[in-house]
Amino acid sequence: MPPLPRPGLLDIKPYRGGVSDAPGFDAPIKLSSNENCFGCSPAAITAMHDLEQKVERYPDGSVHLLREALAAKHDLDVERIVCGCGSDELLQLLGKAYLRDGDEVLLAQHGFLSYKLIAWQNGAVPVTAPETDMRIDAAAFLSKVSKRTRMVFLANPNNPTGYLMPGEEVRKLHAGLPEDVLLVIDGAYAEFVREEDYEGGFALVSQHKNVVATRTFSKSYGLAGLRVGWAYCPDEVAAVLNRVRSPFNVNAMAQAAALAALDDMAFLQKCVDHVAKWAPWIEAQINALGLKAFPSAGNFVLFGLQSPDEADALETFLSARGLILRGMRGFGLPGYLRMTVGTKEENKAVIAAISAFVQQ
Ligand SMILES: *Cc1c(COP(=O)(O)O)cnc(C)c1O
Repeated sequence: MPPLPRPGLLDIKPYRGGVSDAPGFDAPIKLSSNENCFGCSPAAITAMHDLEQKVERYPDGSVHLLREALAAKHDLDVERIVCGCGSDELLQLLGKAYLRDGDEVLLAQHGFLSYKLIAWQNGAVPVTAPETDMRIDAAAFLSKVSKRTRMVFLANPNNPTGYLMPGEEVRKLHAGLPEDVLLVIDGAYAEFVREEDYEGGFALVSQHKNVVATRTFSKSYGLAGLRVGWAYCPDEVAAVLNRVRSPFNVNAMAQAAALAALDDMAFLQKCVDHVAKWAPWIEAQINALGLKAFPSAGNFVLFGLQSPDEADALETFLSARGLILRGMRGFGLPGYLRMTVGTKEENKAVIAAISAFVQQ
């Protein structure tokens, strides 16, 4: 008998990222993974160049410079910040550390794909809370809490729906959870949020022992390829994460680039302002073409077509023109596509192509 993995692991469908090629195009326009259309801060590139000669050294396993900078910037306790190889690693580690066989993991009906994988990897069962027209509230989540619920994942803003749960609802959700249930607030798109009443989780983390807030350098900072994320945790959770993570989980290039990026607020502001202008433009254009786009608080827009077949046809039509969007079948949304906000020219090219598709 060959070695056997834990039961259930081979039943998992591996995560598939956004498509990155369009046959026949050397440089297609890739708007399938919510990446930053402006790249990253030039200061981050310089920081990586400066490090080129020193890669024989191990990185700082405690990531202290970056953690200090994050603590100062967000006015947080540095001891409660844990960095990871992308925020996804931290979500994975939380699953490993806190889930037991048979536990339930609660997520939104169209929540981020990783959350289900994390449940399955740890012998837990994903349970979904119903959305209405791509929106969700605290009551919908709380209606699905059972004695077995161990973790609740909330992406706020959510990917792929773009929905932002108001701060008051987030606090209501937390208040309704038993104390031994961990609420994980995934703020992958937090920097793009413009609403006043935003609960990204930091305030809840400082007051309670059962909330974790995660952030990433992958989206608004444009460093997805380097893999840097971080979590703000209660002391006890930070102590656990620091025991289960690998000792050098954030590499030296990633630390240097993230630190420099954090210092370049002009670049971040440029990206955030661009998305604030173009996400509503894309939404309006798509609606004007008779399709249904959903308002988004992130750097992407979800929209629906008449049928799954029509959505597949549009994805193919766009790909044949070098334009890559994300078909949503894998997210349980056949009939929908998601478009990342691109540059002005990219956005106009996609809308022109969708217009040609609709009129053909
Ligand atoms: C992109 C994304 C992440 C993953 O971010 P990394 O830091 O690159 O691992 C996490 N959550 C949501 C909702 C995302 O869209």
